[in-house]
Amino acid sequence: MIPKITLGNNKYNLFLVIIICALIIALITLYGIRLNEDIHDIVQDQFTQQQLLLSKQMSTGIEEFLNQKTINIEILADHLSDTPPDEMIIEFMNVYYHSPGIYVIEFINESGVITMGYPLENIPDKYDLYEHDQANVFEKARDEKKTYITRPFLLMEGGLGVTIWSPVYNGSEFEGVVLAIIKLSDISDRFLQTCDSPEDIYTVDEFGTILYDNADRFQAGDNVAEALNETNPLLLQILNEQMNGSEGIGYYFEGNTSEKKLAAYSPIRWRNLLWSVAVVSPQSDVDALIYSVYVKQVRFIGLSGGFIVLLGLSIILLLTRWNKSLEFEVASKTSEITKSNELLKRANKKLMELDKLKSDFVSMVSHELKTPLTPMKTSAEFLLQNDPDLNVRREMLELIVRNIDRQTRMVNDMLDISRIESGNMRFRKEMQDMDEIINSAIETMKKQSEDKKINITTDIPTDLFKINADKDKLIQVFINLLSNALKFTPSGGNVEIKANESEKYVEVYVKDDGIGIPPDKIDKIFNKFYQIDSTSARLYGGSGLGLAITKSIVEGHGGTIRVESTPDEGSVFILTFLK
Ligand code: ADP
Repeated sequence: MIPKITLGNNKYNLFLVIIICALIIALITLYGIRLNEDIHDIVQDQFTQQQLLLSKQMSTGIEEFLNQKTINIEILADHLSDTPPDEMIIEFMNVYYHSPGIYVIEFINESGVITMGYPLENIPDKYDLYEHDQANVFEKARDEKKTYITRPFLLMEGGLGVTIWSPVYNGSEFEGVVLAIIKLSDISDRFLQTCDSPEDIYTVDEFGTILYDNADRFQAGDNVAEALNETNPLLLQILNEQMNGSEGIGYYFEGNTSEKKLAAYSPIRWRNLLWSVAVVSPQSDVDALIYSVYVKQVRFIGLSGGFIVLLGLSIILLLTRWNKSLEFEVASKTSEITKSNELLKRANKKLMELDKLKSDFVSMVSHELKTPLTPMKTSAEFLLQNDPDLNVRREMLELIVRNIDRQTRMVNDMLDISRIESGNMRFRKEMQDMDEIINSAIETMKKQSEDKKINITTDIPTDLFKINADKDKLIQVFINLLSNALKFTPSGGNVEIKANESEKYVEVYVKDDGIGIPPDKIDKIFNKFYQIDSTSARLYGGSGLGLAITKSIVEGHGGTIRVESTPDEGSVFILTFLK
């Protein structure tokens, strides 16, 4: 008995793969959450740094611009002491055109009167500072002998501006002051508004005066430090830092709203002045940036999860298929083994049967070979010792010949069966008349039938078709069948040979009214060495080879042989030959 093998457990595999997938997805999600926190910090930091960098770029740009202008004015002032008055205008034009960004350059003589400058249309000619009580900065530059820069103030032309006052000395002799005006709108146009960034930008000076605000929350020139004290302390804190000249960032809430803003600020140091530029952006910009990273992350986790689930499903599918094919293979191998076991069992049974047949055969052959010897020996001895008359002598000799024939038949049968088994049985076929063959066999068996008083009758059509056959072998077939019919039919019985012809075949019946064959033995009687009664005490002689030889010869002629029989009523052997 082969145990039923089941390979793997599909449900278990499925469960295992689902658990692994879930674990991997959970790990990715956990990692994603931790990464989120890092990303939040990194993005926030990056954004802050970026804003700070932007404010620095602006402040550095403005600082360089203003310092450059100042140096240019100082160089001009230096030159003027050596320049004849009629060439001064050329020097002014040179500076004006080579150093863009200056609104006007003027020369104020030692008495505080504007005597010339460029461009002409911007010059209030003969304007006397002392008359307008505006000479204090002029005097400061003169007395300290160094450039002085004013705080931003409202220009007569409108808008805020700053002035650079650079004294002109010829040796120790004061000749006047070069005054340059720079409009703040020029600075913002160049450095603050040209920037494409959407941020709010404002500049404030060290006293809290707003110099520029692109968001229009403050008016240029307003001082916001006081006003913000109560309304927006956070913004005021930032402004204070800016007014101190610090660089950094700060958060505040816009007006009365809860909109959080980030301000990155950087100082502008210009000689005696300190300004500060701030870049303001809503915190929601950073949040949107972080959110967009989150969305990408969630998408990535979703995609990875989907991929893992797909992978898991494919593995499950593969495992299931693999399992099924293995189970199928095992099942087919098991059934193969069961079949071959069955075959082995049958072969074994057959071998045992053959073994029994062989031992039966040995005892039967020795019996059959010995049986004729006794009458032969008795008759021969009788003939040697006596001198019987002719009739008796003939009878004795006939007895000897019959027994010799019996032994010869026995030996021939054994030779035939061994030829059949080795495939060496040869047929010399020629066209033969069936009735001639049958009559020949009857003739051979005539003596035996007469002895047993059994009548052999025939019913064979005269024009029966000719058959391509080995005559001697077919005669042997009918001799075997007749011999059995006579043997197994009691004295006084009948044996009949009948032939029928149809379109396709010829059938020959050898019928007796003898002892018949039990139904359960019918299948076996064509097996070699088989005899229904194989005991040594059996009534009928024989080798058990006759029908096996007969069947082989009939099949060798393309025919078949079968038997129908009823015990105690008789048997009929039916031979069919195709035409
Ligand atoms: P045997 O030499 O014993 O006759 P066979 O092969 O010719 O061997 O026949 C096998 C057995 O078939 C016989 O021993 C007998 O038992 C049975 N048999 C054959 N022909 C007949 C028949 N006409 N009537 C009854 N039994 C028969």
